[in-house]
Amino acid sequence: MRGWLFLFHAPAFLSVSQCSMWNIQEQKGGEYMVNIYYMSIHGSGYKLSDHFTLKEFQCHDGQDFIAVDPRLVELLENIRKRCGAPVIINSGYRTPSYNRTLKGSAAQSRHLFGMAADIKVKGYSPEQIAAIAGDYLGNSGGIGIYKTFTHVDVRTGSSRWKG
Ligand SMILES: [Zn+2]
Repeated sequence: MRGWLFLFHAPAFLSVSQCSMWNIQEQKGGEYMVNIYYMSIHGSGYKLSDHFTLKEFQCHDGQDFIAVDPRLVELLENIRKRCGAPVIINSGYRTPSYNRTLKGSAAQSRHLFGMAADIKVKGYSPEQIAAIAGDYLGNSGGIGIYKTFTHVDVRTGSSRWKG
């Protein structure tokens, strides 16, 4: 009887709400929640905010699982508002296996934790986007200026670099 009950109730144990967050702890004291999603459950059109859908954060390897830090979405919304133009996400969440295939990517890249995005905005240079991101991130977060895009992340500490 017990076995049957378990089977009957099994779908409830697998509900999204029971496994929808990562608890991330950073070396320098930061502790926060990162939301996790499944494309097959939430759908590609799932809206994370006014201007961003889940699909935009999916790893390029097509992995169903997607991690997104809500603070990253907030930052991207702010950048979008300031620019008055769409923010294109070249790369959002990355699976560890996909990240390993990228030349020069950090082993502990913030992309692996759903905390980073490589972005571009039409009409703005990577330097200009970096300056705008800096206005919102202040003394925290990561900003990397590359030739054709800007990397932004919401780490607790502060890091600025040129790629
Ligand atoms: Zn990046």
